[in-house]
Amino acid sequence: MENIHAVYNGRFNFLNDIKISPLSRAYTFSDSVYEVIPFCNSNIIAFDKHITRLKNSCDSLSFKADVKKISSEILDLINKSNHANGYVYYQVSRGIDPIRSHMFDDSISLETFGYVVEHNFISKSLTVMICEDMRWQRCDIKSTSLLGNVLSMNNARNNGCDEVIMHKNNLITEGGASNVFFANDDCVFTPSLSNNILPGITRELLIEEIKQAGIKIEEGQFDVDDLLRAKSIWLTSSTKGLAQVKEISGKKTNLVNDHQLFKACEEIFVKNFLS
Ligand code: PMP
Repeated sequence: MENIHAVYNGRFNFLNDIKISPLSRAYTFSDSVYEVIPFCNSNIIAFDKHITRLKNSCDSLSFKADVKKISSEILDLINKSNHANGYVYYQVSRGIDPIRSHMFDDSISLETFGYVVEHNFISKSLTVMICEDMRWQRCDIKSTSLLGNVLSMNNARNNGCDEVIMHKNNLITEGGASNVFFANDDCVFTPSLSNNILPGITRELLIEEIKQAGIKIEEGQFDVDDLLRAKSIWLTSSTKGLAQVKEISGKKTNLVNDHQLFKACEEIFVKNFLS
């Protein structure tokens, strides 16, 4: 495997050469937040929005992060990599405890870690599984505490699926690592942020573009039956872009391959961000 450029506590190194303490609170408590910042044809997609979300995640956990320093490290990683297409993973943890303890000592310093990898943004059509959303109540924070997502997504994979679409009390929330959009013949729908979901950057960019293009879009509360009645469903994320859902495991659907509203949204997104 090629050497992956990385940075740990401000020091650049190759990923394989970084050593971390097992008493890092990222390791013992998932007391950490992260971002995934994509770049395509050497353009960083919505850099400021990613940095703002990272700052919000840090603020929610009272991490006093140096956002300017973090931004410059992310840019340096991209430059060092020489990749045209890829993403940076960047994580901030509360730091390293002298000994494991739920209650943290305010004097420990934040621990930061990032790396850059090549990635291609061509999405394939997905088979998804619908499942109950078993996560905590603060999914707006981009925390590394992702066990709910991890268990659901691996259960989906063991059943031949690529992703999950979750619902809480029958109301659609989001994908395991993506936001959900669906459409009938004249309107696009997506769960509003008040449904305890991550404020996805791709979701936000797409909503702005859809409105600009004069396509009807509604953010709100939608149930599983609304989703099953849809003509088109797609998932969005920084690494997937827009990925069409071709099948929902075990369910009868009305999905139309390459529905006109999906194609229109995909075209807008690719034109504005991926070309
Ligand atoms: N929801 C969840 C749970 C995610 O993990 C992700 C991907 N990080 C998203 C939504 C999509 O967010 P973004 O478009 O910012 O990548």
